[in-house]
Parts: sequence; structure tokens; C-alpha cells
Amino acid sequence: MTDLNGKTAVITGASRGIGAAVARMLHERGCNLGLASRSGDDLGLERAVARPCDVRDLDAIVDLCDATAERFGGIDIVVPNAGVGAYGPFLDLSREHLDEMLDVNLKGTVYAIRATLPHMLGREGDVVTLASEAGRRGLPYEAVYCASKFGQVGLTRALDHELREQGIRCTNVCPGGVATDFALEEGRGRTRDALAGMMSAEDVAEVVVFALERPRHLRILETALRPASEASWG
Ligand code: NAP
Repeated sequence: MTDLNGKTAVITGASRGIGAAVARMLHERGCNLGLASRSGDDLGLERAVARPCDVRDLDAIVDLCDATAERFGGIDIVVPNAGVGAYGPFLDLSREHLDEMLDVNLKGTVYAIRATLPHMLGREGDVVTLASEAGRRGLPYEAVYCASKFGQVGLTRALDHELREQGIRCTNVCPGGVATDFALEEGRGRTRDALAGMMSAEDVAEVVVFALERPRHLRILETALRPASEASWG
């Protein structure tokens, strides 16, 4: 097992949902944290650098990563997790929704890795990207969301080839439905009733931590996980 105590992790989209669950679990294991979200919530965690940071702004994410590395002496882990979703027929999606999904989910992931990697090189590092089942299969009424998630998966797979020999592992985590605020009002449903039977944010966070805790001689490239109530689509 890899001991995470004393490692430093940057998590984007850390203010709630899956990102907050990952942050809390890593903090319990002794990690130092850099937490990025627009609200800048530090979740009340003691060993954390947190500030308002929109992942669409490369300068803002670089500043947060630099401050995190300065306080804790480097960065070992990045979890690009910030994401938004809007579902519906392709032509019905607004221009704002198109841009937001591509910019936050895909560009925000590129930016988070780009900002953390200089602080990771020369150490044993991990990139654990919160992608989705929508990054593995084309799903109707989720075309642009799928495009952003396939992009994340491709980016992380390509970086695995590029960074493996430098001791950096790259993992895609691809959940099905998770009961968070994600996409409420934006196609998933208007109330939290739409989330019945889905996995919890903690279920997904445990998979992230599992990947990080594997011994360094192995790496998990991709995990797909679903609630029992959800089909596997072949
Ligand atoms: P969530 O509860 O809605 O949380 C999203 C997080 O992203 C929040 O912390 C939000 O914080 C942050 N965020 C949104 N836009 C941002 C921006 N421009 N800059 C910085 N932070 C931003 O969603 P979630 O369910 O935890 O989703 C996390 C990830 O898992 C996403 O990438 C999503 O695509 C993926 N995923 C979710 C599900 C699901 O069913 N929920 C399934 C598969 C994959 P602020 O509002 O404070 O900025």
C-alpha cells in the first residue's frame, strides 16, 4: 500500500459533492490539500489552501497550485474533478451550456494538470481524473457532456503514456449516477427525488483513494462504477 500521510493533493471542484468527499477522505489520511472552487470553501479542513478559483482561468489555478506547493513543499496528487452537466436534445442546449461544459470539464482538466505537473515532476505523482460513464460511451441527450468527458479520458490516457516513466500514474474514474447537486435543473430533474438509488459521493471518493493507495509498482488506468439500479449499457 502507498501511505498517503504527508502527501499533498490538489482537488478541483472541492466545495461540495465528489470533490468535497475526496478532500475529506484524503485529509483524514494525513494529506495536505489545495482546494479549488469558485466559492473557495476550505471545508473547515486544517491543512488546506483554499481560495476562489475558476478552473477556466489558467492564471487562477496556477496561483492556487503555486501557493499550495509553497506551503507544503510540492504537490503529489491532482484530482481534476470540477464539472458541470446540462442534458437535452443537442440543438436545445444553450450556447452558455455548450461553452461551460467544454470549458469547465475539459479545459479545466487540462489547466489543473498543467498547473500541478511542474510541482510533481521528480516525485512520485498521481493524476486521478473524475471523468464519467459518459466518457466511455455515447449517451443520447448528453452529446456535449460526453464530448467533454471523452476528452478528459483521452487526455488522461495519453498522459499515462507520457508520464509513466517519470513515476507519475494517471487514472480515469468513470462513475454512473452519483447523488449530488450535479445537473439538477439542467436536465437531470428539478428535485433531489431524481437522485434516488444513485451512488453517494463517498462511494466514488473511496475508489479515488483506493487507486491512490495501490503500491507504486502498479497503476489503475480506468475504473467504471455504477449503482446497482443502473444498467451497464453493454
Ligand atoms: P457537484 O456536486 O455539482 O460539484 C461540482 C463541483 O465543481 C463544485 O465544487 C463546484 O464548486 C465546482 N465547480 C463548478 N464549476 C466550476 C468552475 N468553473 N471552477 C471551479 N470549480 C467549479 O458535482 P459532482 O457530482 O460532485 O461532480 C464532480 C465530477 O464528477 C464532475 O466532473 C462530474 O462530471 C463527474 N461525475 C458526476 C456524476 C454524477 O452523477 N454526479 C457522474 C459521473 C461523473 P463551485 O460551485 O463552488 O465552483
